[in-house]
Amino acid sequence: MRPTHFLSIAGTDPSGGAGQSADIKTASALGAYTTSVLTAVLAQNTCGVREVMALPQAMIRAQMNAVFEDIDIDCVKIGMVSDLATAQLIREFIERYRPAHIVLDPVMVAKSGDMLVDRDGFHAVRDVLIPMADVITPNLPEAAVLLDTDIPASHDDMEAMLPGLGALGSDIVVLKGGYLAGEVSNDLVLTPDGTHWLEAERVKTRSLHGSGCTLASAIAALLPRHDTPIEAIRAAKTYMTRALEAADRLEVGQGQGPAHH
Ligand code: PLP
Repeated sequence: MRPTHFLSIAGTDPSGGAGQSADIKTASALGAYTTSVLTAVLAQNTCGVREVMALPQAMIRAQMNAVFEDIDIDCVKIGMVSDLATAQLIREFIERYRPAHIVLDPVMVAKSGDMLVDRDGFHAVRDVLIPMADVITPNLPEAAVLLDTDIPASHDDMEAMLPGLGALGSDIVVLKGGYLAGEVSNDLVLTPDGTHWLEAERVKTRSLHGSGCTLASAIAALLPRHDTPIEAIRAAKTYMTRALEAADRLEVGQGQGPAHH
């Protein structure tokens, strides 16, 4: 069997931890061949985001054409999307080329706390891209903005908000619970056949930069390799937990370090 062909649609991180870097490292480590379309160039490191430059539409379109006209893409991970026009452009290509698996990480805030996308951009992602995604992977603050509600404060709150997230139109929702305080980092998954808790001990590390990108990319890279989506999602969570456990060994940067792939 040939390796899975994976496409990352994302922004950059010159310090190597998040966005495109995390996507490529993750999918490569999981055996995929990785391609990449950039939506924005960022100046950032483990301490924070300094500059964000969204790329012109024509350049994003040219990159999408270059990849899709030449390469048979099996799975796509969509990360940072800054505005409505970019969301529509991505949708146009997904509808034209119909890759089998689409995972959308609705990115709004970096782990450093810096805003990456404003509310309008985020709502464009909600209205244009989520309905065509197979899997979405919001964290709790992102889920709250998606539904215009308060940030969940407990596992019960997470269960209560899950149907609303499902109604946004993706087939599967992975609601990441790592934002809650406590000894565990449990995620709640909604699939067409029910809800599943994915339980994990909290990894004691500050190195969470890019962890959202890592989980979403791992799910995208693994979906073509598993019989059911929930198996791929469980395997992706295991991969991310291992990458976080190894993160502190990297000793990269003075802020929130990256995961080790
Ligand atoms: N995309 C880009 C370009 C980023 O810089 C970040 C965070 O810094 C993200 C996505 C989302 O990051 P995380 O995986 O930490 O949620």
